[in-house]
Order: sequence, then C-alpha cells, then structure tokens
Amino acid sequence: MRASHIRFLQTRLAAMGHDPGPVDGLRGPRSDAAIRTALATLRPLPKGWQIWPPRRRAVACLQALARAEGIDPGPIDGLWGPQTDYAVTALLALQRTGQRPDWRDLRPAPPALWPTEAEVAATFGPHGQLGGFTPPMVKVPSPWPFRIAWNLAETRGFLWAHENTAASVARILQRIHLHYGAQRLHDLRLDIFSGDYAPRLMRGSQSRWSMHAWAIAYDFDDTENRLHWGADRARLARPDYLPFWEIWEAEGWTSLGRSRNRDWMHVQAARLD
Ligand SMILES: [Zn+2]
Repeated sequence: MRASHIRFLQTRLAAMGHDPGPVDGLRGPRSDAAIRTALATLRPLPKGWQIWPPRRRAVACLQALARAEGIDPGPIDGLWGPQTDYAVTALLALQRTGQRPDWRDLRPAPPALWPTEAEVAATFGPHGQLGGFTPPMVKVPSPWPFRIAWNLAETRGFLWAHENTAASVARILQRIHLHYGAQRLHDLRLDIFSGDYAPRLMRGSQSRWSMHAWAIAYDFDDTENRLHWGADRARLARPDYLPFWEIWEAEGWTSLGRSRNRDWMHVQAARLD
C-alpha cells in the first residue's frame, strides 16, 4: 500500500464524515481509528476484522470502497493480491479521470529465461503433430495428485514437460507444494489438471500453434477460469493464488491472466511477443 492509497483513503474517510486527521498519506492513530469506524459499518462484516492489524483493515477499507464503486476487489479480506491491486488502481484512476481503466499488466517483468512465442521453434524444436512428430518430453512427477478436470474421479501423479523445461517444472511443483501443502492445493482447486501437451493450434487461430504443442504450457481448473473471463470472474486471479503465480514467474514462466487478463487457467514457458 502506497502513500497515494492512504491519501485517497483519508480523503474518502473525511468525505464520509469520519476524522482521519490531516490528508498526508501517513497512516497514524487517527487514520486507523477512522478506518475502524468506517469498517464497522460494512455489511456483511468480514470475519475476524476486529483483530486484524491496522494495515490489513486499511486494505479492507480500500476493497470496500472499490466494491461500492462497482469495481470487483475479490473478497473483502484485507489481503493485497493481484485482484486488489487491480481494483485499487482502477479506483484511483476513476477518481483522477472519471473513467474505469482496462486491465493493465501490473506485474514486475519475469526474468527472461524462456524465448518469446515467435522464437519457440528455434529454442524447443518442432511442435508436435497429431499422429506425427512428438517433441522430446519427460514425465515430471508431481508432489500432489492431480484430478483430471474432465473426469474428477481420475487422478494422475505427473505432468508432461518438454525436456528443456522439465527441471524448471519439477522445481516449481516442489515450491508450490511446500507453500500450500496438499490439502490446501485441493481446497483451492490447484489439483485440477486441465491440460499439458496437446498437438493443436491456438484457440481461435487458423495457423498459430499453441504453446501446448511444444509441451511448454499447462492449464489448471478450466471450469472456474474460462478462456474469456477476466480477473472479476476467474478463480486464479484471487489473492490466494498470488504465491502460485509468483512461483511460476520466478522461473520466467508467463501467466496469460496476469499479463493479459484472459485465459487465467494457462501458464507457459514463453514470453509474449
Ligand atoms: Zn492453455
């Protein structure tokens, strides 16, 4: 949370008749007290908000203001994830310009460890063809079992990876498992596998091959992260999933959701052109 966010909050709190003290971008005891008073009027009240630290209550207050303007911040939980980041940016822009901005890419650029989409064939070799060539692939064992999206009773314990990305995928799966644990991965539906290697064209394209045709892309939980859904609907845009994406991005992988606000199910070892 930046000083501009706190200034915005102080301005709004004063306009609502609370007393946040001077509008100085600093969260002091008077601002904290005003935030507390404002939050107490929220319906429904977020669970446990009384014992949250003041900073978390301030974030919750910004989330509530965004929601009041029709901008979806995700759940009012006081946690700063990509959805809140988007909502607060939109909220401040709305105040400044009177307009709701489109999604913009708010991530720090991931390290450039993988080629761009245009360079993929030069780096990874030819893509797979249905009933023909198959790229060199490795089965990377997963530390938690995946349920298959189209048949949830069926599980599998690995992901197919292009041999050049297999070590990276293995590290990523280990880190994700360490961070969340198997139970939470299940509860968050991060154990729902919706695709790895697939020799097919990009959805909606007549000529461009999907990154899945090189076995350098994965889809998770497609039913709750539809292709054309934005961060307001996609489950993987919620704050709970921020560590999941940061683990992929630390290895240079690209989330289409985080960079383009579409296809939130998808992650790939290729940068966007
Ligand atoms: Zn995909």
